[in-house]
Amino acid sequence: MVSQVGIHPSVERLFPPAVLRDALSDVDAEVRVVDTGAALGECDGLVTFEYDAGFLSAGLDWVHSIQSGVDRFPFEELEAHGVRLTNSAGIHGDTVGETVAGYMLQFARGLHHHRTNQTEREWSYPAWDSAFTLRGQTLCVVGLGTLGRGIAMRADALGMDVVGVRRTPTPVDHVDTVYPTTELHEAIGDARFVALAVPLTDRTSGLMARSEFEALRDDAYLINVARGAVVDQSALVAALRSDALAGAALDVFETEPLPAESPLWGMENVVVTPHTAAATHEYYRRIAALVRENVRRLNDEEGLANRVV
Ligand code: NAD
Repeated sequence: MVSQVGIHPSVERLFPPAVLRDALSDVDAEVRVVDTGAALGECDGLVTFEYDAGFLSAGLDWVHSIQSGVDRFPFEELEAHGVRLTNSAGIHGDTVGETVAGYMLQFARGLHHHRTNQTEREWSYPAWDSAFTLRGQTLCVVGLGTLGRGIAMRADALGMDVVGVRRTPTPVDHVDTVYPTTELHEAIGDARFVALAVPLTDRTSGLMARSEFEALRDDAYLINVARGAVVDQSALVAALRSDALAGAALDVFETEPLPAESPLWGMENVVVTPHTAAATHEYYRRIAALVRENVRRLNDEEGLANRVV
């Protein structure tokens, strides 16, 4: 039985801890905001944004990450200490799908330039041949899980041709052609937009590096809503500087926050967002639903949903 669930203060990065605590007032356990001190040792489960080594020795049975990506968590150590880990995959298709649709529309319609000109009070016409429509353009979505499918659905609705990359290349709704990971270059080679939506793993680290940028069209745009390290950032900067790439929309970076000295900040054809592609005022409710379900499962001695470790 779960008698106490802690909420780690680090969830503040995405919403106030007390908001989640109040949303979980109906669960069959005491829910309280705790820190890494003695109070943590009284918890059976913990809901957190950050990982802290103190979680290993606290006697927790279960840790829930409020993010989908759990690349910062040490799987083997958690397993060795008997701590189960669950993630928040499965809930970000709409938010990230809309963000990516926004990035693509912005590049096609030149909205990012108009906004920049507005800050200078500058009434400026773009080059006659710079604007285009998304209809008929090809998007390649790398990773067809929750995010990838949310992106593909919106791109399809905008009249785009959608292709995708998946470990098992079986059909996916709204995706015309699904390539296996071994055919990444073929998949991205004809695309005007490439959207990365894979988890960061040993296999996806540096997935987009120099040879992938060489495989892209010169007028292609890269969108990264996965994790910064999925892209070799210096290869990206080199491709942008040499006009081997038309632009990039980046929500995630090798180092976050993106350091002030990064050249990406100053590039006109780069849109930087601060790891907020999945942001919504409803975020805490979706986390509450996952936590509520897993407390029920633990109490009913069922397997955990979204279990990673
Ligand atoms: P998900 O588990 O629903 O989907 C991930 C998909 O990637 C799965 O279908 C998996 O089979 C596939 N995959 C794994 N390795 C692959 C590879 N080598 N090649 C192709 N496909 C591969 O997770 P999700 O909710 O879609 O999130 C995906 C990732 O996006 C997360 O792990 C996280 O790092 C990142 N993310 C970022 C934000 C943000 O705010 N920018 C929000 C949510 C998730």
